[in-house]
Amino acid sequence: MKQVLIVGAGPVGLTLGTLLCQYGVECVVMEKRKSRLSASKAFSLHARTTEMLRLLNADIGINTKAVKVEEMRLYSQRNLLSNMRFGKSSNTECRTIHSYPQSLLESELETAFCSNGGLIEKDATVFQIDHQPQGYLVHYKCQDDVKSRFFDYVVGCDGANSIVRQLANIDCSESAYSENFLVADCKVESMSHNVDYQKHGHTFLSSKGYVMLFPIDRDYTRVVIDTDKQYSGESESTNLTYLNRELEARGLSVHIGDVKWISVADVRSSLASKYSVEVVE
Ligand SMILES: Cc1cc2nc3c(=O)[nH]c(=O)nc-3n(C[C@H](O)[C@H](O)[C@H](O)COP(=O)(O)OP(=O)(O)OC[C@H]3O[C@@H](n4cnc5c(N)ncnc54)[C@H](O)[C@@H]3O)c2cc1C
Repeated sequence: MKQVLIVGAGPVGLTLGTLLCQYGVECVVMEKRKSRLSASKAFSLHARTTEMLRLLNADIGINTKAVKVEEMRLYSQRNLLSNMRFGKSSNTECRTIHSYPQSLLESELETAFCSNGGLIEKDATVFQIDHQPQGYLVHYKCQDDVKSRFFDYVVGCDGANSIVRQLANIDCSESAYSENFLVADCKVESMSHNVDYQKHGHTFLSSKGYVMLFPIDRDYTRVVIDTDKQYSGESESTNLTYLNRELEARGLSVHIGDVKWISVADVRSSLASKYSVEVVE
């Protein structure tokens, strides 16, 4: 039977792997990390993503563990400008945005993949792929060893800086936003502004900067602000002081009491010039 290697156990690799297993295709996922990150990273599943994930025919907890967010409210100088109701005019059955931390989703997808017969090799970093007449010889570092293994197909699901894409000589066009965004999963302790931050998303625009509040689970809220800060893992109290000061500077009386995760993200848009390479001998 033909064997497929998927490089990368992120949401794309695990979803593809589960689907392939369900179609009876033998596949292995190689992942360079030893264990899953606990940081949430992405948090919102858009309607189309939810629709695609339903193709899996596996319970990955969207209905039971995700928070349904039906509205995003947009403010200018703290005055409500518009209230966007997600999916109102769409025909899709997945009408809302589901707030579901990426770390939880990946853990559910990994369970679905393995229970459908998929194999994950962790701590396995792919660094070289040799094309051979019948397929591909893949070289990877596993703990302190270098190993090689043959596959009929290789799929790169290894993220924005994909080594598989680079080894296949596929270009990627890229444009980056000029601002960086600070993202943090926090407990909002108090907020003078009367907004339901545990139920809806809120975006505040003003000349002082950008703030977005979005529910991430029952207790925590994702806070996003624009920043020129390069973040480098300061202590929890430094994070708290910084966030509270920045929110106040933007004219919002929100008080953050606890930060579970904080990071600075540069937002980029990139697109590979093609999605497959057919090598004809
Ligand atoms: C802060 C933040 C917030 C975001 N919020 C959202 C959001 O709300 N909604 C949304 O839709 N998207 C969001 N995104 C984007 C989303 O996280 C990505 O689109 C998504 O992770 C892409 O999934 P992926 O499986 O393609 O790649 P990744 O999640 O990047 O997974 C790639 C995997 O490949 C592994 N890997 C890399 N190189 C190798 C190698 N050589 N060998 C073996 N393994 C390798 C990596 O360790 C990783 O596990 C956000 C991103 C960030 C950073």
